[in-house]
Amino acid sequence: MSRDMMPHFELYQPDTVENAIDLARRIGQGAWFLAGGNDSLDWFKDRNKRPTAVIELAGIKELSGIRETADGLEVGALTTLTEIERSPIIREKYSLLSTAAGRVASPQIRNGGTLGGNLCQDTRCWYYRYGVSCYRAGGITCYADTPEGQNREHCLFGGSRCVAVTPSDTATASVALDAQMVIRGPDGERVVPAEEFFIGPSKDITRMTVLKNDEVLTAIRYPKQWAGAKFYFEKVTDRNTWDFALVSIAAAMALDGDRIKDIRLVCGAVECVPRRLKASEKHATGQSRNDDLAAQAGKLASEGATPLNYNHFKVPLMENLVRRAIRDA
Ligand SMILES: Cc1cc2nc3c(=O)[nH]c(=O)nc-3n(C[C@H](O)[C@H](O)[C@H](O)COP(=O)(O)OP(=O)(O)OC[C@H]3O[C@@H](n4cnc5c(N)ncnc54)[C@H](O)[C@@H]3O)c2cc1C
Ligand code: SF4
Repeated sequence: MSRDMMPHFELYQPDTVENAIDLARRIGQGAWFLAGGNDSLDWFKDRNKRPTAVIELAGIKELSGIRETADGLEVGALTTLTEIERSPIIREKYSLLSTAAGRVASPQIRNGGTLGGNLCQDTRCWYYRYGVSCYRAGGITCYADTPEGQNREHCLFGGSRCVAVTPSDTATASVALDAQMVIRGPDGERVVPAEEFFIGPSKDITRMTVLKNDEVLTAIRYPKQWAGAKFYFEKVTDRNTWDFALVSIAAAMALDGDRIKDIRLVCGAVECVPRRLKASEKHATGQSRNDDLAAQAGKLASEGATPLNYNHFKVPLMENLVRRAIRDA
């Protein structure tokens, strides 16, 4: 197939979610939803994804906006990362999300990039992005999981033929905040907890989320349970400018004095999905917050890790991020 031109596709610009879904259903596998386009256009220009029809969601008004509800907060999937970063209500009550959104990429990308697009983006494994025919791309090998494979940025957990990781900063924050993902498709609406929305290669090696080809993520709900809690977000990168996480942590903590009443600890870039650290959470719950507890919870975080040839450094990094989250939130 020629690579010297970006492949032709039809462009649809529906103004209702129902029309978008109907188009995707009728077009089938060749359909591609477009939000801010930051990830999508890279794929098209690199010629490595070749949709026959692009369905632009930008004209659907109901998909944008930040609304307070009786149960918490509802954020439309087309709301930009900049809007989330700057929203007074999110900064006041759910600052874990505004901080994570503010650490995505560069200001230009955040101005156009949407929450839905950031949550639904594909993995950044460079072999796959380069267009090689690896397992995830339908081939029969993983180029990263070989003795000489460049797997510094790949996973510690959950590898199953593919060892790629989630690149999304807002995904880790959304799992830590017990978000609910509102999905609409030809059969109506379903609401899926963020923790179940993201899927690893053992479930489906070709997808990062439970979304089917004709389903739209319409909104993300953040329950008020965590409003105003103690939060911690830290993302370690190779460069001190826009970059994807080597490891990140998103933590939410409810305290009673110095006792931890409830806690969520979620790591990014260590698994194909945001990794909830349940053993560390269990160990910390009900305990007084102190350095020893933070160190013990950190150690528990890396249990079961299976590093690849070049990513052993992620193990102590992950442990220290958990330690800092508990100590400094
Ligand atoms: C240079 C660069 C640096 C980056 N750094 C970071 C980073 O540090 N951290 C980070 O988290 N991300 C980073 N990204 C990724 C970037 O933030 C995402 O690509 C962007 O947020 C995607 O949003 P978008 O609205 O542009 O999505 P699009 O590119 O339009 O869509 C992305 C994907 O999501 C699907 N999609 C979008 N919205 C919906 C919806 N509502 N329903 C169903 N499917 C949908 C699309 O079909 C597509 O597959 C970086 C990207 C670039 C180019
Ligand atoms: S890690 Fe996954 S995406 Fe990367 S080369 Fe291996 S199979 Fe492909």
